[in-house]
Amino acid sequence: MAIQDIYPTALRLLGRPVLVVGGGPVAARRAKGLLDAGAKVTVVAPIASEKLRGLVDSGLLAWEQREYRTEDLDGVWFVQTATGTPAVDTQVANDAEAQRIWCVNASDHESSAAWTPAVAVVDDVKIAINAGGDPRRAMALRDAVATALETGGLPLRRHRKPGANGSVALIGGGPGDSGLITVRGRRLLGQADVVVADRLGPRGLLAELAPDVRVIEVGKTPGHHPVPQLEINRILVEEALKGNRVVRLKGGDPYVLGRGGEEAEFCRQNGVEVEVVSGVTSAISVPAAAGIPVTHRGLAKGFSVVTGHEELSEVPARPDHTVVLLMGVAQLRESAAALAGSGLPLDTPVGIVENGYLPEQRVTIGTLETIADQAEAVGVANPAVIVIGDVVRVSPFAPQHFKTADYSTITPNRPRVRTN
Ligand code: SAH
Repeated sequence: MAIQDIYPTALRLLGRPVLVVGGGPVAARRAKGLLDAGAKVTVVAPIASEKLRGLVDSGLLAWEQREYRTEDLDGVWFVQTATGTPAVDTQVANDAEAQRIWCVNASDHESSAAWTPAVAVVDDVKIAINAGGDPRRAMALRDAVATALETGGLPLRRHRKPGANGSVALIGGGPGDSGLITVRGRRLLGQADVVVADRLGPRGLLAELAPDVRVIEVGKTPGHHPVPQLEINRILVEEALKGNRVVRLKGGDPYVLGRGGEEAEFCRQNGVEVEVVSGVTSAISVPAAAGIPVTHRGLAKGFSVVTGHEELSEVPARPDHTVVLLMGVAQLRESAAALAGSGLPLDTPVGIVENGYLPEQRVTIGTLETIADQAEAVGVANPAVIVIGDVVRVSPFAPQHFKTADYSTITPNRPRVRTN
């Protein structure tokens, strides 16, 4: 049978009687598929496999424990035969043909009246593939298409909106490089009708959106003040209540100093469904872009992430406990003084990474004593992550005299961008 001779269609079997002849694994698989589609399934077989018995025991299907009889076809809309005995399958298929009932014959693909495609479901999309009578090829293609759908590689976005409410996804986009968003985040972004975007985060992905996806900028851009948080919350809810799938694309991780919790709470309070997709936080990844691990065997066992000098008195003041400062540029001098005041040695290394993962990435390294002057001299500006502790010694940007024997056998990750 040639592929052009088949006519793909989708049967709606909900509540309709269908017949499966055979009790083996193929019959069980097909019975399960038919049940999933809501059909009223009867299985005729003298012996049933364990899987099939499981379905029988749970009361999902009727099992006639005997050989097939022609009358079994009475009143059914569709039949699957998979007895393992070609003569029986042929008889079922011939009987079905005589009664004009569509039949899939598992033992004779060539003469079978209907074929079962390889199927995958992603969201509310069901794909079915027939591949020239080669089931493994069909499954491989099915898997590839499903993966592309799941990872945002194919346009999964709806064009006909259901009447119901939309939803909001708070997506952590990572520190800026388009490759650092999660697969789940990328997929939901591909389905968005509206994207509410920040200044930080993977801005490059916005260019890949379909032209009719609305992008609402709420971050600070030169000459424009950022949209206040309450207004952002309101936009998210308003757009979702219009039936849109809204993506709130945030830099880093939504729950790390990103006010994601407030946005999620506001949406839920207003009856809008929210999904939070974690992201790669700049607190960990931006140091890594400069070859700095936030913990490192022999150098640091833990780390704290804070925003400024107020919290610093609570943080262990030891070179082997890494301190990561976000939004810390303006208060760098006060923060360094606070840590020194808590007893952190003045020669503790400090690294500043501006624009991590972006083409303008710049790394400045000094000590607790010198860093504020250095930052001022080179004009360090946000966005920047400041890392304080012995782990900074590992950076390939650290001066030679910072390096110690403790880690010299380990090669740090090569940063993707080197500007200095
Ligand atoms: N939720 C975000 C943090 C938001 S606070 C996250 O998890 O990453 C904003 C701060 O993040 C900036 O002031 C800066 O300290 C840091 N930041 C975010 N992206 C950055 C980048 N690409 N390079 C350097 N710092 C960055």
